[in-house]
Amino acid sequence: MLKVNNIDVYYGKVQALFNVSFEASGNDIVSIIGANGAGKTTLMKTIMGINTPARGTIEYEGRTISKWSTHRIVREKIVYVPEGREVFSALSVEENLEMGAYTLTLSKSQLAERMEKVYDIFPRLKERQKQLAGSLSGGEQQMLAIARGLMCEPKLLLLDEPSLGLAPVIVDDMFDIIVRINKESKIPIVIVEQNAFMAMSISKRTYVLEVGHVAMQGESSALINDPTIKKAYLGG
Ligand code: ATP
Repeated sequence: MLKVNNIDVYYGKVQALFNVSFEASGNDIVSIIGANGAGKTTLMKTIMGINTPARGTIEYEGRTISKWSTHRIVREKIVYVPEGREVFSALSVEENLEMGAYTLTLSKSQLAERMEKVYDIFPRLKERQKQLAGSLSGGEQQMLAIARGLMCEPKLLLLDEPSLGLAPVIVDDMFDIIVRINKESKIPIVIVEQNAFMAMSISKRTYVLEVGHVAMQGESSALINDPTIKKAYLGG
């Protein structure tokens, strides 16, 4: 469904990705792990048309999208939830969710129906629907950022560091919810994480990015027991 073929990406003269290939298909969760600065966000932004690859292509459902505008890519229902819990702090939870469906022409009842579906996954957000997003806890803001992405019923969901900065107990909830979204909506999810253990635990395949290169890839269940991975990413 999504195929990244041998892409090179630069910021000016500095190369951030080197010959990176990667695939997400079916309704699998695929994880991309790697240290700070490995190029994970760059890869996500390139899929979204924010960066353009200097070489290589990106295919989605058989079409080459690497030169498409972000707007057009979003219209294909590829949704990117960036790192850093970017919510509209001065708007309520409900208004944030409405913004998620802003580009679609939905009737009031369709909008309400979608919101109920999303609240079903995130009951805590329903309890806080009138509250300003800026007053939510870090975990709730991250959940709102994902919930807003779900409002347009994505066909492919890209999550950038959803666990970043969250307390361990909230991290567990977050990963449970990601698995539930994947099971219920049957869409592929690409998850970029520094929390390698959790990302590998919930995903089918894992790609390891190191300084802009795919250093390793394979079934997550195998990689999680690989001595090199254990040493570099799982604390021994
Ligand atoms: P992090 O977990 O810190 O977000 P990352 O794996 O997502 O790391 P990227 O943010 O993709 O890594 O960065 C990859 C490389 O590209 C780094 O060397 C970074 O400094 C560089 N880089 C990222 N964004 C820019 C930019 N806008 N201009 C110049 N260099 C950039």
